[in-house]
Amino acid sequence: CHNGTPPMPWFGMDIGGTLTKLVYFEPKDVSDQGDTEQLETLRTIRKYLTGNVAYGQTGIRDVHLEMPDQHIGGKRGSLHFIRFPTNDMMRFIELARSKNFSKLAKAICATGGGAFKFESDFKEHVQLKLHKFDELDCLIKGINYIDRNNNKSECYYWKNPDNCEKCEKVTFDFRDPYPYLVVNIGSGVSILAVRSPDDYKRVSGTSLGGGTFLGLCCLLTGCETFEEAIQMASQGDSTKVDRLVKDIYGGDYTKFCLSGDAVASSFGHMNLKERRDIASRHDLAKATLVTITNNIGSIARMCAVTEKMERVVFVGNFLRVNTISMKLLAYAMEYWSGGSLKALFLEHEGYFGAMGCLLELMN
Ligand code: ADP
Repeated sequence: CHNGTPPMPWFGMDIGGTLTKLVYFEPKDVSDQGDTEQLETLRTIRKYLTGNVAYGQTGIRDVHLEMPDQHIGGKRGSLHFIRFPTNDMMRFIELARSKNFSKLAKAICATGGGAFKFESDFKEHVQLKLHKFDELDCLIKGINYIDRNNNKSECYYWKNPDNCEKCEKVTFDFRDPYPYLVVNIGSGVSILAVRSPDDYKRVSGTSLGGGTFLGLCCLLTGCETFEEAIQMASQGDSTKVDRLVKDIYGGDYTKFCLSGDAVASSFGHMNLKERRDIASRHDLAKATLVTITNNIGSIARMCAVTEKMERVVFVGNFLRVNTISMKLLAYAMEYWSGGSLKALFLEHEGYFGAMGCLLELMN
């Protein structure tokens, strides 16, 4: 945004279709920043953000993701990760106004579609100009930064994903990552082929994403939140809803090596009243989750083959508290590729765009 070090506070904001993600850099020392009045405002903001875990009804700081001991823009400090529903954006703008944000900064860096959509609201209500950056550029920069600078390990995979007892989360050394595929599962899905820190292209995408899962789940089960939807799915049985190969063949489809347990038709049982009568809300939630996840896995696999890439990194908030989908993706990648593809995951899931956006501030 500026030449030299920009004035504090340092934020990166990713305004997505469902969630707004905020990365805030908390410096160890603020004494050299501006006049007394500015300093006071800066302290207020810092105290408010780092002192709380919940903001209002819906804002949350993901404390477990905090990154201490970071060096950014010549300063040392901690990175904090905060999110709230994009639906509450006007309340956030009101908060920025009440904390006197515009006393300190004339502009903030923002990415995601909302950087365009809410531009005039920021200008009108808090006199803030938005410096807009492309969300996929930011995503790649964010992955690159966090993977290299997280003192705890960032990247992992699931070992034995199809075995409840033996399944475990294992650290993956991602120091030499190129080339790799990124599958960003947010409200919708974007798939990127990454060949070096500044060589990537968007190769595919699908509108059947995390937003579709949540939307369908709300319709089918009456649930209200993502957490509730995942909770329900974890207790459901999707085979009550889906039609399997064995429901059609009576066993395996041997000529083409299709196991009887493979899904032949997602939701395929639901045309029959007697099947509908015994499918619970939990079963419907699970079937929705499995359907969306496997469809994304299948598209990702085709992209990996086309791009000749073996590592597939899944990110985005759809994977938050969602080990079911991670294990399904891990299993599907391995199984359908005959073991040549590896599904990888990153701890900071949905925050890479916001992180990359904060880094743009330093340029
Ligand atoms: P976007 O930038 O499109 O908002 P995200 O990466 O933030 O994308 O992911 C949004 C998706 O994450 C939602 O569609 C939903 O499936 C899932 N999700 C995870 N946690 C939540 C939450 N607390 N509220 C709403 N959706 C959530």
